[in-house]
Amino acid sequence: AAAPIARALLSVSDKSGLIDFAKGLAAHGVELVSTGGTRKALEEAGLPVRDVSDITGFPEMMDGRVKTLHPKVHGGLLAIRGNEEHRAAMAAHGIGPIDLLVVNLYPFEATLARGGSFEDLIENIDIGGPAMIRAAAKNHDDVTVIVDVADYDEVLAEIAENAGATSLPFRRRMAAKAYARTGAYDAAISNWFAATLEEDTPTFRALGGTLAEALRYGENPHQSAAFYFTPEKRPGVATARQLQGKALSYNNLNDTDAAFECVAEFDPAKSAAVVIVKHANPCGVAEAPTLVEAYEKALACDPVSAFGGIIAVNRTLDADTARKIVEIFTEVIVAPDASEEAIAIISAKKNLRLLVTGALPDPRAEGLIAKTLAGGLLVQSRDNAVVDDMTLKVVTKRRPTPEEMADLAFAFRIAKHVKSNAIVYVKDGASVGIGAGQMSRVDSARIAAAKAADAAKLAGLPEPLTKGSVVASDAFFPFADGLEAAVAAGATAVIQPGGSQRDAEVIAAADAAGLAMVFTGTRHFRH
Ligand code: 5GP
Repeated sequence: AAAPIARALLSVSDKSGLIDFAKGLAAHGVELVSTGGTRKALEEAGLPVRDVSDITGFPEMMDGRVKTLHPKVHGGLLAIRGNEEHRAAMAAHGIGPIDLLVVNLYPFEATLARGGSFEDLIENIDIGGPAMIRAAAKNHDDVTVIVDVADYDEVLAEIAENAGATSLPFRRRMAAKAYARTGAYDAAISNWFAATLEEDTPTFRALGGTLAEALRYGENPHQSAAFYFTPEKRPGVATARQLQGKALSYNNLNDTDAAFECVAEFDPAKSAAVVIVKHANPCGVAEAPTLVEAYEKALACDPVSAFGGIIAVNRTLDADTARKIVEIFTEVIVAPDASEEAIAIISAKKNLRLLVTGALPDPRAEGLIAKTLAGGLLVQSRDNAVVDDMTLKVVTKRRPTPEEMADLAFAFRIAKHVKSNAIVYVKDGASVGIGAGQMSRVDSARIAAAKAADAAKLAGLPEPLTKGSVVASDAFFPFADGLEAAVAAGATAVIQPGGSQRDAEVIAAADAAGLAMVFTGTRHFRH
């Protein structure tokens, strides 16, 4: 256990709560040491306080740039109390231990927020404060470090409970917070600094990203944008080699990623698969023995939307497929690899971008997904759930046939990559109707069926391909109406997570229509 706190160094720019806290410390017999401004505030409140210059034997100098940067301070923070040699060094150099460090930093962020000048910002980069915080946090076995005014009361409570000392779990927690603070402080400085250099580039360094390239614009021409690499190593858009075509735009990059992540769900050893994406949603997905067949089936799902789409394939792009693809306008093709002949065919289309990634990403791999909201960043782990790993439960009287079962799994794999609410009709290894991004599930089901009817009309088929199809829903049907819409469209089997309060109603509706239904127990929301 650490010894009772005998000496505290307080050096704070934000003086709120300081006096009450210092009084609390003094009441426990803690000796107070401070830098100029903090000392003045404490003295004015009638508290006994020593100036840090008194300890270092040096005055504060250079406009406060050098106040606490001294071995007498850093030795007092860093010395391991139980270490013989450290104690000898302290004795030899007249270094006294500092048991509690209370620092909040020069207000760099606030200066930035109020639009401070370059010189103003430079002067507001705290040097000694972070150095002391990092030193004290490193030595948290012996030293308590406080960087947040909100923690003052807890320190006093700790001291009261632990006979003048603090507990190790508390010191650990405060040390972790201390490094989070210095990390965030330096990130704010580095973001600002980088922005002063790259005036046209937003310097949003999410997840420790490094700038890959400045983009011409963002989702819309009036938005600026840039592409950053994260430390994550995952075959995909970030690591791809672009073999031809003009630079990718923000939307291209986003859509290409969506397409490639989706196609990676399909094992190339089992079948060739093709995904066509528009606005980050698949508008056609199919698997077949060959890529060209898969492409034709994927295209048939929604040939109108596929125009100007992004195509991802799970095997080496071959000449047959390349020849088919160049028949219509396509923005981007992404593939693990491409044959010489395919590359030659694509090269006839100067604007068509061809990306090769060298490999497919593992859909089961862990990783992070980030998205921003006003003033914050939401981070979550990737949705790496795969239908093959789920425990599927047949909940209806009728079991799916093996053919239905294969299509159900295929449909659920696609649904994972369709924006919620997602409804995906599948027949013979190909999507035949996709409903995406609706606020109501029954609307998604109706839209998917309507799109299938349009595609059938376009192809001159007597009836929509949803007749005799299976359907996947990314989340449970809250009511029977979504399922009834699927029945009306001609679906014979359903896959969905289950777990609704009205599951019994939904199952009864499926039984009444002679449907087979499977619960996955896992949801694939995608917003
Ligand atoms: P005070 O108001 O007490 O004069 O100064 C407190 C501020 O000085 C704190 O924000 C603390 O982080 C910062 N500080 C302490 N030591 C040093 C130093 O050696 N150099 C710089 N630049 N700032 C320091």
